[in-house]
Amino acid sequence: MTQDNHAALLQLYNEISACPDCELSATRTHAVPGEGRPDAEIVFIGEAPGYYEDQQGRPFVGPAGQYLDQLLASIGMRRQDVYICNVIKCRPPQNRDPLPGEIEACHKWLERQLEIIKPKVIATLGRYSLAKYFPGQSISRIHGQERRVGDLFVVPMYHPAAALHQASLRRIIEEDFKKLPVILEKARRETVEPVAAEPQQMRLL
Ligand code: URA
Repeated sequence: MTQDNHAALLQLYNEISACPDCELSATRTHAVPGEGRPDAEIVFIGEAPGYYEDQQGRPFVGPAGQYLDQLLASIGMRRQDVYICNVIKCRPPQNRDPLPGEIEACHKWLERQLEIIKPKVIATLGRYSLAKYFPGQSISRIHGQERRVGDLFVVPMYHPAAALHQASLRRIIEEDFKKLPVILEKARRETVEPVAAEPQQMRLL
């Protein structure tokens, strides 16, 4: 139920905002739990908050976020139709790479978000969410190709910031985004609860 999801996510945001479990808690301005529909069918998982996200407590609000908004618009979606979050909920100082211990300490929050939202499709944006679902795989080989993982589909995507810095990736990420509605349709078809079969008719003879 959306109302229940909403309440559960709010409770989670309070816990994330007070999380003391790694050293990033000492340098953050705001934790950045995530935002969007509490019952979103598609969840985008980025890397970590940057400067603007840390200032505002919202994910993807800097230049990469503006490009993500454009990519969503290109498939008829808005950020309030989906859910957007990151593997790491607090900004690493100077945007350095998160340390393995920080990723591990933050893992539980993402797991709880996904348990509440129960998406049908996850799009990974960047290295850390790629590594969670496709360890050891290279984005250049597998981008845009959905894979069923348990009861959902996961689609590896280039990070929008990478496409901003490297013009040749723009076309690729834009084409990969166009596949999302098709993948969502497939996920809707293939992940619906099986309807209980009619009991077999008893034969009279
Ligand atoms: N890059 C990310 O991976 N996440 C954000 O929230 C912003 C930029």
